[in-house]
Amino acid sequence: MAEVAFRQLRKQYPPRRGSAPVEVLKGIDLEVQDGEFLVLVGPSGCGKSTLLRLLAGLEAPSQGQVHVGGRDVTSLPPSRRDVAMVFQSYALYPHLTVAGNIAFGLRRSAARRPRQQLHDWLARTLPFVQSPREQRIAERVQQVAAMLDLAHLLDRLPKELSGGQKQRVALGRAIAREPAVFLMDEPLSNLDAKLRGDTRRQIVELQRQLGVTTLYVTHDQVEAMTMGHRIAVLNGGRLQQLGTPMELYDHPANLFVAQFIGSPPMNLLPVEVVSPEQVLLAGKRVVADPALAPVLNAYIGKQLMLGLRPERLRIAPATNRNLPAEVVQVEALGHELLVRCRLQEFDQVVQVRTRADLLLQPEQRCHLELESQGWTLFGEDGDALRPAEPAQASPHLPSLPA
Ligand code: ADP
Ligand code: MG
Repeated sequence: MAEVAFRQLRKQYPPRRGSAPVEVLKGIDLEVQDGEFLVLVGPSGCGKSTLLRLLAGLEAPSQGQVHVGGRDVTSLPPSRRDVAMVFQSYALYPHLTVAGNIAFGLRRSAARRPRQQLHDWLARTLPFVQSPREQRIAERVQQVAAMLDLAHLLDRLPKELSGGQKQRVALGRAIAREPAVFLMDEPLSNLDAKLRGDTRRQIVELQRQLGVTTLYVTHDQVEAMTMGHRIAVLNGGRLQQLGTPMELYDHPANLFVAQFIGSPPMNLLPVEVVSPEQVLLAGKRVVADPALAPVLNAYIGKQLMLGLRPERLRIAPATNRNLPAEVVQVEALGHELLVRCRLQEFDQVVQVRTRADLLLQPEQRCHLELESQGWTLFGEDGDALRPAEPAQASPHLPSLPA
């Protein structure tokens, strides 16, 4: 097991004909703790896979260093970094059985020693010689197969497996070697929704049991929210925010994180600050989150963007404090409704998460009440304004399994 650190890591690809060089990672500083499950999330093309490949040693950085377990591994080949990677495409060896695939890394890692080579040669030539190493490998394969519910499939070839089973074999191959760090690059993207949920829980449980430092890449914010001890949000080759799922949800560092984390995304509403206690929103005075009074005090008379999660808006009676709106669309999810409403004063749609038993129809007039808690205010540059930066100032971890 080991901690991982990226220091001022940059990756530039050389220019293609006629075009400028592309800088894919623009200075990443990130530390992953020993035993932590860190999810790297961001839109397609933001550099997630590149970052994993730099850690695995499949690419070399243009600048900066990669550390694993306190060791600078930047110039070491993949085989000497003690990391194991699971890919979206599974990348199983088609001619090897499930057992052969799981054992692959184990065989390869010891095969270089001369004494081992002699043993292997004897065992191959004389069937009654059971090499002690082969015995250990067989035991480890059984162990891993039992963990991943693959014991009944050990003799099958990859083409005889379902997508979910292939993915478990790919995981098994990574686990078998007991690496210091697991790297997983969108390992669930090829699975259907139900299986994705099951496998997601299985990976979380496995990581908890094994306690191996894990970097898990996804573009799916639900995976990010549910799997990681912490989430690193990446956009355009830059780290946007690093924090626990709830820190990111409650205190997004900027508009990008606010919109990327959470589904439906955070509502964004332009407001004008009238006092430390009140803002003007769609022509109405609204009571602001008292926690933000010190911030508002510094912005009186200015325009800001108010971010409010859909569960902090309510369909409410018509009073002169509530905001008049019109229902645009209602999605019934069984346990709750997602209601899209258009605010009357300015032509802006907001999303409201509300009780499932409300009777609402499209085009119906309604009123919205805003909770005066859980506000995030964004300045002109898109960064969140905070009295004291809670998410950033406390890089504490949730307690990791011992
Ligand atoms: P992600 O995994 O977040 O979707 P990637 O790390 O795969 O993103 O890629 C980031 C960017 O780098 C993309 O714009 C991609 O086109 C570019 N890129 C990746 N590999 C290469 C390469 N070998 N040469 C040039 N550009 C590349
Ligand atoms: Mg990728």
